[in-house]
Amino acid sequence: MKVLVVNPPAFNKKDFIREGRCMQTKSSWAALWMPLSLCYIAAVLRKDGHEIKLVDCIAEKIENNGLLEIFKNFKPALVVLNTAIPSIAGDMNTALALKNSDPGIKITIVGMFPTILEGECLKQFKQVDYAIMDEPEWAVAHLINAINEKNSPEHIKGLIFRKDDEIIVNERQNLSENNIDDLPFPARDLLNNNAYILPTNGKKFTLLSVGRGCSGNCIFCIANVYYGRSFRKRSAENVISEIEECVNKYDIQNFLFWGESFTTDSKYGEKICDEIISRNIKIAWSTTSRVDTLNQNLLEKMKKAGCILLGLGIESYDQGVLNIARKGITVEQIDRAVSMVRKAGINSMGHFVFGLPGDTKETAFKSINFACNSVDFAQFYCAIPYPKTELEIIAKEQKWIYDYNYSQFDLTTSVMRNEALSAKEIKKIRDFAYRKFYFRPKMLIKTLREVRSLKSFFSILNFISWIKPRNH
Ligand code: SF4
Repeated sequence: MKVLVVNPPAFNKKDFIREGRCMQTKSSWAALWMPLSLCYIAAVLRKDGHEIKLVDCIAEKIENNGLLEIFKNFKPALVVLNTAIPSIAGDMNTALALKNSDPGIKITIVGMFPTILEGECLKQFKQVDYAIMDEPEWAVAHLINAINEKNSPEHIKGLIFRKDDEIIVNERQNLSENNIDDLPFPARDLLNNNAYILPTNGKKFTLLSVGRGCSGNCIFCIANVYYGRSFRKRSAENVISEIEECVNKYDIQNFLFWGESFTTDSKYGEKICDEIISRNIKIAWSTTSRVDTLNQNLLEKMKKAGCILLGLGIESYDQGVLNIARKGITVEQIDRAVSMVRKAGINSMGHFVFGLPGDTKETAFKSINFACNSVDFAQFYCAIPYPKTELEIIAKEQKWIYDYNYSQFDLTTSVMRNEALSAKEIKKIRDFAYRKFYFRPKMLIKTLREVRSLKSFFSILNFISWIKPRNH
């Protein structure tokens, strides 16, 4: 079967990254991510003998009209469309344009939107025929094989579909049965890999999945809704083979090791580092971690294996806020983690959230001061009451949410208040935090030192323009 796999065009002139829990604009990272999940889907379907075309409209700067041209020329039987909550209006416009162009086309959506909205997404959007809840690779493959062989999709876990006028929501997937090592490597050959570059050095970079899932219970997070509550790691051998493929076949030396926390299983992290070191693979990489799963030995190995930046889930530097958010960490663990990362010679990137329950002006400024004095880089977000999170339940009960417009759910805008701060104040604090952190002379010099090309300069300008305050 011919299948067109699509990362939809920019929405509201914003280039969105749609990768599981990460649903932000490109400018928030100053770099465009390759569509990892879509590459996995393409690889799985190709392995099953289907003819695949993968189009990343964001990377290729393709609008709906351009996509329709590709669609008409390729003549697929089915389209797989990625979605994200803040870009859903644009994503559904793309689905509608495809459907209007060929009413017989079957459209399947994947991503966080159907995972969270379940049957509601087919009810709201008549142009969608199928939707996948949770990670998509296995369910999409089962669906396409069922359609190809004219079998009923009723047994496919994680699938939502239409049967006459009814919307059927199948049983959720049992994610522990999905062994990531069984997946072929992502089909990077179907992408223009030169489109994904690091802003600072202009070099190609890619995402590489090391494991999925998180057992954390943070009240604001949707990661475990999508990837499950236990950390499913790939074998170290499988990860290393993919790294080597990226280096040797695609000439990519820069990586984001994508997962909820690289250090969840420190022995596993060490094993990957040991292999990179012993095989003398020369790469630079970044990844993310909880602050309570680090140790000095692992960090030293990470540094030796090429880790240059470690993202730390700090969220708040106030113990009361951390407790209410059920982050399961202490400020002492934050201090310890930051100093261990520094000692290892790795740059730290602190991630902070403003407007969680219990957050006040005082606690927010505690976090900002901590960021300025402790971490090398920082990302500041507004708390978002994503559907199916405990934060949403609390915010609904307290009548804190003032704007249910999903296009505002991109972490840069506050759509809710809390006990102490209005939505406007939360947004103001977040914008102030960026200005305070990045417009310090020390940071400006550091950033300019990193700039190696004109292209990098414009990427950084783009990042700075994103930092500037905007009105609601
Ligand atoms: S530890 Fe991180 S990934 Fe896990 S639930 Fe908390 S915020 Fe989400």
